[in-house]
Amino acid sequence: MGNVRKAIVVGSGFGGLALAIRLQSSGIQTTVFEKRDRPGGRAYVYEDDGFVFDAGPTVITDPDALRELWTQSGRKMEDYVTLLPVDPFYQLCWEDGYRFDYSDDQASLDRQIALKSPGDVEGYKRFLDYSGELYREGYEKLGAVPFLNFRDMIRAAPQLIRLESYRSVYSKVASFISDEQLRQAFSFHSLLVGGNPFDTSSIYALIHALERRGGVWFAKGGTGALIQGMVKLFEDLGGTVRLNAPVDEIVMEEGKARGVIAEGARTDADVVAVNADVVHLYDHLLRRDPRGVKQAKALKKKRFSMSLFVIYFGLRGKPADLKHHMVLFGPRYRELIDDIFKADGLADDFSLYLHCPSVTDDSVAPPGHSAYYVLSPVPHLGTAAIDWDVEGPRYRDRILDYLEARYIPDLRRDLVTCRIFTPFDFRSELNAHLGSAFSVEPLLTQSAWFRPHNRDDVIENLYLVGAGTHPGAGIPGVIGSAKATAGLMLADFEAAGAVSP
Ligand SMILES: Cc1cc2nc3c(=O)[nH]c(=O)nc-3n(C[C@H](O)[C@H](O)[C@H](O)COP(=O)(O)OP(=O)(O)OC[C@H]3O[C@@H](n4cnc5c(N)ncnc54)[C@H](O)[C@@H]3O)c2cc1C
Repeated sequence: MGNVRKAIVVGSGFGGLALAIRLQSSGIQTTVFEKRDRPGGRAYVYEDDGFVFDAGPTVITDPDALRELWTQSGRKMEDYVTLLPVDPFYQLCWEDGYRFDYSDDQASLDRQIALKSPGDVEGYKRFLDYSGELYREGYEKLGAVPFLNFRDMIRAAPQLIRLESYRSVYSKVASFISDEQLRQAFSFHSLLVGGNPFDTSSIYALIHALERRGGVWFAKGGTGALIQGMVKLFEDLGGTVRLNAPVDEIVMEEGKARGVIAEGARTDADVVAVNADVVHLYDHLLRRDPRGVKQAKALKKKRFSMSLFVIYFGLRGKPADLKHHMVLFGPRYRELIDDIFKADGLADDFSLYLHCPSVTDDSVAPPGHSAYYVLSPVPHLGTAAIDWDVEGPRYRDRILDYLEARYIPDLRRDLVTCRIFTPFDFRSELNAHLGSAFSVEPLLTQSAWFRPHNRDDVIENLYLVGAGTHPGAGIPGVIGSAKATAGLMLADFEAAGAVSP
């Protein structure tokens, strides 16, 4: 590779930016190409009528993984972004009026569980221990190492088998806890990374320990402020972000990636890393290369996570009784999740996640107002061929009516601004295959070595980072993928004689 060390990262999601920071701080001249007019990918920001709406991630966990990006660059995260603790982590609400405040306060958890189902206090403790073990084995040890060879998988297998990772999240939770609502309270988390709790490996129950250990945080000003902080860090280190710069093709010569073509112009680099959707990478960016054609075909056979329908809205005033993060369970749990992952239409009922950032941070809405988003998991476009241009406004109205009837009285009266984001938008805005919100579904058979690898198997200087590669979706996941991918890239540079300073 000579002495020139230039990298291109396609996409500015959390994973792309984290990788770009790691490369730039190791002396690799890095340019990020982003299709949209703002960075962040799923963590995009809308600013409507004075409201600031985070488009996607709002629950920040494992702040240390983020902090590492600053410390390894010799900077302090606190100089760029402020993280505020969120308490309770979530309030979980059911239609029968039962509410559970899920927090880090052991005494409060014990008290609530004892009131609901005395026999489950002990079971919860055992679940917490189990989740802690999963966290150590699945996250600490394997979350940021690339699985390039099957022997890496074999090495991890005994622990995965011992922890019964072949069972589903729900089935493991149910083995510790008997009350159905508490089972839901401790099993819904895999949905946050696109996993069906009845299908996905119990390894994802580690999210519980991850939250208990590192807490749940909110970036002051919104997740967008964290993205801005990452962009500033990257630029302070000398990196370049190019917005409104959709990459159309990866330039291939003699079996290697030589650069990219964006808006008709070619930019050369020694290595290319792709944070964009994995199917988009092979199906579109490498459409003229045999590797692209072959891998796109293989990837399209995989199962993809569900999509999401999101409504961003701003209200006059600040309704009482809302917590920052609320999960509003509908009348059905298993059956609804089944419909979301398998049915070819939209269910009549829904379970919602309601984000109320104004509870923690006044700066996201004009004075005297409050900002929200509500999301409903829905089938992706390959599962249900719904015409979202028609169904979107109807579905929005059903959800707003439901919220007004149960949680936010006078919502319609106080509504100032409202916009929706549908599976069609995931597809068109983010180039997401089938409009999936979380990329390749996190099944055991699609995890670790079975997931698209952090370095392409054939094109030796083409790398992947983000939700579609190991370890998977969610901010901690894609930040871990950036660590794994950066490690590989720097090792490859070193092996090629272009040692970083
Ligand atoms: C509504 C929602 C809520 C969520 N909530 C949480 C949460 O609370 N906590 C959490 O941890 N996780 C959450 N997640 C998951 C998390 O947001 C994602 O897994 C993560 O942000 C994905 O990051 P990524 O690095 O894979 O990149 P992405 O965010 O997918 O970004 C990829 C980027 O590539 C760009 N791109 C695509 N094609 C091209 C091209 N050809 N040229 C240039 N650029 C291109 C896209 O525009 C995009 O900016 C949520 C997701 C959604 C959708």
